[in-house]
Amino acid sequence: MESTQCPNCRSSACCHPFYEVRGVPTNSCLLVDDRGRALDFPTGDIMLAVCGECGFIFNASWDPDRTIYSDQYEETQGFSPTFNAFNRAIAEELISGYDIRGKTVLEIGCGKGEFLSLICKLGGNRGIGYDPSFVPDRQRSEQDIRFVREFFTGETRETAPDLLCCKMTLEHIAQPHRFLVSVRTVAARQDSVIFFQVPDVRRILGYLLRALLVFQLHFAQTLVHRDGLCGPQDLDGL
Ligand SMILES: [Zn+2]
Repeated sequence: MESTQCPNCRSSACCHPFYEVRGVPTNSCLLVDDRGRALDFPTGDIMLAVCGECGFIFNASWDPDRTIYSDQYEETQGFSPTFNAFNRAIAEELISGYDIRGKTVLEIGCGKGEFLSLICKLGGNRGIGYDPSFVPDRQRSEQDIRFVREFFTGETRETAPDLLCCKMTLEHIAQPHRFLVSVRTVAARQDSVIFFQVPDVRRILGYLLRALLVFQLHFAQTLVHRDGLCGPQDLDGL
């Protein structure tokens, strides 16, 4: 593992593994046609490692060729009123905070286009959305929006937008630093607003830690009952 190279900063000296699980499905959110295909879905390993140089956490066992983003990728949370209220609050905050009215908004990883459609509607904006999982039949927006069913890459050429937003997408990208350089190239204007939304790793690791504690507690209880080290009451509050 010492020779593992950080996909973000390219350091190869300081990557430390801290969590491993084997044989998990290689994709989430991907819909398959029947139960048999679901049961036969390809699996791979997770080996989470942290880079001591830049702090990036990544799956050192990840194989990008096994990850699929297509129109079968169902990421929307747009059927949830709670999520829609959250999305609307973000759109309103961006519009009012940065005067995004009558302007051009570029969204990378726009999914089915719900947020882009919303911010264009609320602010009277024009939109450009990039996502290979976009499905035209799922978006009936009357706004001036151009959807591109492709990845946004270093080769992508677009007019510099007034607002570039990228929500819950950066964590899916293999080489974040290289991607950010591409974003900076497109949003070349000094007054372009760039907005990223990413998961909070503290919350994710909190779930992991709680799962480990439950496991440890079960392990401890097993030892206690087998070896009679102490009574169950001594484990209360763990
Ligand atoms: Zn790094």
